[in-house]
Amino acid sequence: MTQIYFHEGDLPASVHFSGAVAVDTETMGLELHRDRLCLVQLGDGKGNAHIARFKKGCYDAPNLKALLQDASVLKIFQYARFDVAALYLYLGVVCAPVYCTKVASKIARTNAPSHSLKSLCSSLLGVELEKEQQCSDWGADELSEEQLKYAANDVLYLHALKEKLDALLEREGRAAYARACFDFLPHVGMMDIAGFDCCDVLVH
Ligand code: MN
Repeated sequence: MTQIYFHEGDLPASVHFSGAVAVDTETMGLELHRDRLCLVQLGDGKGNAHIARFKKGCYDAPNLKALLQDASVLKIFQYARFDVAALYLYLGVVCAPVYCTKVASKIARTNAPSHSLKSLCSSLLGVELEKEQQCSDWGADELSEEQLKYAANDVLYLHALKEKLDALLEREGRAAYARACFDFLPHVGMMDIAGFDCCDVLVH
């Protein structure tokens, strides 16, 4: 049973996550310096999704910042690189430790043609996601039911995906490669914001 909780500006202090929290962000677009952060979604892996919405320029969110920086809580993302950069730029936090289901899939599932959330949910969990709200106006004053449902969906399956992907990484003896990438990801986000392409830095 899915429960969606909407919060304005920050998570309430009463909301706690232990172990691992699924995290996603929605922005006005893909150019982070231009396109502001609008939503941060959090999932507990048990069907509960919390959505924190930010109005333009209002990013003072002490509870959320503390969670994102809490070393005892693993943050699970799909394509962490983008979200980690957005959280760094708008909330000023280096989000760690992180786990990225896309990176895990790229390392564990070299047979797979796609590593999108939609494909991962379909092939690993048998869940078919709808993606039609992806480009909707996340800065709108009133978010629709459909938008909130879509935003919540992006964090509802990440714990289950992690479990499947961890098993595949173990089976193929590739867990150490994935872990090394996860440890590097918070720094990749910082470098993206600073204008460096970390992949380019590593090329001859
Ligand atoms: Mn999303």
